[in-house]
Amino acid sequence: MSRKQDTRDRFYSKLRIANNGCWGWSGSKNERGYGYVRSRKKTTTAHRYSWEIHFGEIPHRACVLRTCATKDCSNPDHLFLRPHLTHEARFESRWTEDENGCWIWSDSLNSSGYGTWWDGGKNISAHRSSWERNFGGIPNGKHVLHKCDVRNCVNPNHLFIGDVFSNMADMVEKGRSCTGERNGMSRLSEDQVLEIKRLYSEGGITQRELGEIFGILGGSVNRIINGRRWSHIQ
Ligand SMILES: [Zn+2]
Ligand SMILES: [Zn+2]
Repeated sequence: MSRKQDTRDRFYSKLRIANNGCWGWSGSKNERGYGYVRSRKKTTTAHRYSWEIHFGEIPHRACVLRTCATKDCSNPDHLFLRPHLTHEARFESRWTEDENGCWIWSDSLNSSGYGTWWDGGKNISAHRSSWERNFGGIPNGKHVLHKCDVRNCVNPNHLFIGDVFSNMADMVEKGRSCTGERNGMSRLSEDQVLEIKRLYSEGGITQRELGEIFGILGGSVNRIINGRRWSHIQ
């Protein structure tokens, strides 16, 4: 058996055909979730390999994309070619504007619901990348926050830099390490409660974002702001 045939057989042996016709991949995957095929000459992602053995060589720098939503699908009938897009154009192709003017990220989200974007060899959050491509670098330790409260929105006009964050992160750390009880509100210090009230009254930050910063639930933030908790602190 020729080496070429050998590689091809290995490719077919790793496929798992699903009910929807997708050819899933049961072999090794790279860090981006794509299956890959190793031959003597080179390593190729499984879907590109599938394209090559069914339709021939892929034009220089062209992308092989899928019409289905199965990330590791190699069914040649689910694949199509698209000319290479610049990094910039690829980013722009991954959001759609909704009726509120939010640019909703249509690609993968992380576990907290923020869009993720593959850049410079790693996954970064898409809204941070949007800030950087429009306004430049993000100062060390600062955060890019949403005015619109939509985590997977990448509209640069809906973003702002939170310059109070590093201080607060410190405060939260201190609050956590010096309180014995971890349940409910007891881990917040009076200073933190005051800070939450102050930040909220200044505007530009949502209750949910405050909850994230201080590590408490949005409902607890709401109770602080409306005075149902910690009302003795003005
Ligand atoms: Zn498919
Ligand atoms: Zn938005």
